[in-house]
Amino acid sequence: MSAVPSLVSAAWERTLDLVFPRRCVGCGVFGVFLCPACLAATPRAQPPRCPGCWMPRTGRPAGAAELCERCRTRCPAFEAARCPFVYAGAAREAVHALKYDGLSAVAATMAEAMAGTLSEWRPPVTALVPVPLAGRRRRSRGYNQSELLAREISRLSGLPVHGGLLVRRKATPAQARSADEAARRANVEGVFAAAPKAEPQAGALLLVDDVMTSGATLDACARALVAAGLGPVYALTFARED
Ligand SMILES: [Zn+2]
Ligand SMILES: [Zn+2]
Repeated sequence: MSAVPSLVSAAWERTLDLVFPRRCVGCGVFGVFLCPACLAATPRAQPPRCPGCWMPRTGRPAGAAELCERCRTRCPAFEAARCPFVYAGAAREAVHALKYDGLSAVAATMAEAMAGTLSEWRPPVTALVPVPLAGRRRRSRGYNQSELLAREISRLSGLPVHGGLLVRRKATPAQARSADEAARRANVEGVFAAAPKAEPQAGALLLVDDVMTSGATLDACARALVAAGLGPVYALTFARED
């Protein structure tokens, strides 16, 4: 796995602060990348939700253990997915800053929230697996945002990152927001594979990504890992589209 830009050098951070002063991606206040006020105002992905895909409950009341209609119709290859935030407000701004504005340092704050969710949730996982990014996209961005999040979560949780377990066999067109679920699934069909050298390892794996939309990407990643005899697979994202 190639090197990831380090987020840890204090001297380098001070230099960056002079050139690019830290500003909150939500409100613009100086000093932090995501301020406590904006974080507190961002909608949390709170229960009641489907215990599988973590989609909010709608309609008739269901038991806490009951899966949503979608998970019952087409059971995802991951056991369960969780995230601290709904993809809205400052959470959306943070993802945009990380993904499109090159603000890799915001990953540390995002990962803190994710690590908090992980420690409350406590899935029986033994390693983190970032969702791989297409080579072309990674080169233009300079990093894989999921890998940055996984590394920060690793630092906070002590779980190792197994970045080489999954590979992306081809680039996919960016998921269009308007695309329906079938189109999203078709878009990621056959895109991911467990790396040929991946040794089956004992223990459950935790997929890490920035945003869960329909869950098609996480499902495709989990499917590839499970097909290679790995897993069971859980998924953690920073936010999800409700
Ligand atoms: Zn703010
Ligand atoms: Zn569900």
